[in-house]
Amino acid sequence: MKYVSTRTGSGPDAPAVGFLEAVLSGLAPDGGLYVPQTWPELTAEEIAAFAGQPYHRVAADILGRFTGGEIPYDALEEMCEEAYSTFTHAATCPVKQLTPGLFLVELFHGPSLAFKDVAMQLLGRLYDYALARHGRTMTVVCATSGDTGGAAVEAFRGRANARIVALFPEGRISEVQRRFMTTAGESNVACVSVDGTFDDCQAILKTMFGDDQFRNAVDLSGVNSINFARIAAQAVYYFTAAVALGAPHRSVAFAVPTGNFGDAFAGWVARRMGLPIAGILVATNSNDIVSRAFETGRYARGVVAATQSPAMDIQVASNFERLYYESVRRDGVETGRAFRAFAETGVIDLPPQALSAMRETFTGASVTEDDTARSMLSTLNETGELVDPHTAVALAAARRASLPDPTTPMAVLSTAHPAKFPEAVSAATGATPEIPAAARGLAARPERYDHLPADADAIMAYVRAFVTR
Ligand SMILES: *Cc1c(COP(=O)(O)O)cnc(C)c1O
Repeated sequence: MKYVSTRTGSGPDAPAVGFLEAVLSGLAPDGGLYVPQTWPELTAEEIAAFAGQPYHRVAADILGRFTGGEIPYDALEEMCEEAYSTFTHAATCPVKQLTPGLFLVELFHGPSLAFKDVAMQLLGRLYDYALARHGRTMTVVCATSGDTGGAAVEAFRGRANARIVALFPEGRISEVQRRFMTTAGESNVACVSVDGTFDDCQAILKTMFGDDQFRNAVDLSGVNSINFARIAAQAVYYFTAAVALGAPHRSVAFAVPTGNFGDAFAGWVARRMGLPIAGILVATNSNDIVSRAFETGRYARGVVAATQSPAMDIQVASNFERLYYESVRRDGVETGRAFRAFAETGVIDLPPQALSAMRETFTGASVTEDDTARSMLSTLNETGELVDPHTAVALAAARRASLPDPTTPMAVLSTAHPAKFPEAVSAATGATPEIPAAARGLAARPERYDHLPADADAIMAYVRAFVTR
């Protein structure tokens, strides 16, 4: 299986590459995102056989369909087993019932207490596997709205063949989120507090990737959700959750708290692979570029507002390009044109056919700050569950949505542990989330990070210095 850029045919083409190369490079050299040339499909029998399997085995089965034979199955299963042994729950991503028909899929039992660990723990091991064989050392740079950085630092700290630089927006992430990155104390980790928003951090990352000289000099790699391995790893819990709720014999709806559209797109992938997903409700906070696009047909960048759910304070959702590509029937010329124009104008008017194709899977809903807080409070009062503000956004949207068929279970992805956002949770509910073992001790450890302006040249100079140190 080969991977192609979503912009193939729209200029000097990026060549089709194998799985590991797509993983190590992150973004394609033409600025597009890698997608597999064809989507693997599972039969209903294959999906039914996931019932009762350990999570890591389902993960190895799904991932194995994307590797094009580049990793022997045993090695892949071992990586998955190791990756998910870092999770503190025996089911890895357990499903919990809240009310009749309404379920949480808890994705936060990994080392940094957010769902980013699910993909990142695997990604760190995939890098080790690929780089050790080539005796190569790469510089992984990640832009984070809070949780990716902590998960990436946890996944890459101390690894022999990679160093990690995390860029985060100054003052726009929670203290716990920051401490997961800045207290690693490992010499292959650098953290930069950027005087700007997450979108600024992401734009700087794109500039780095667009600069061939820099890219080669530091052997740059990216683990943001532009990285296809993350999408594939995230498709896994759609399968395990849906099977736990009765798939493939009945279909399941999902509600997904959305920022960069990686998690929601992984649901699209699972559905494309044959999982009976009735629909995916894309829930945003007031940074609603994605939910507005599904409602109005206009994908238009706005100004980033700071909210209680900071991991979703994003106005350019990178993975939307993958959905667009699929929705214009894999027309790379059209996708390249649309997204190059978007970089200039900040707007794409979705072709009507593409919009209806998207609406076959997705509906959008945006949730206000008040409703997010009320959602945390009512969830606690009605079910006894304390949920984090990101999960609360999706729960608010799910409660508001009327399902076409009331017997279809609604599974809400719970993306962070409430203890990662204690201020917002306490303000909304008056309750204090219990701190799990992973986060205890963070407050006492010394922090190490640098502070730089939102300036690509300054940050590239910093990365060069870190690499040659
Ligand atoms: C990253 C993140 C999200 C958004 O996920 P995307 O894949 O960027 O859409 C939601 N909730 C939490 C807690 C996150 O860390």
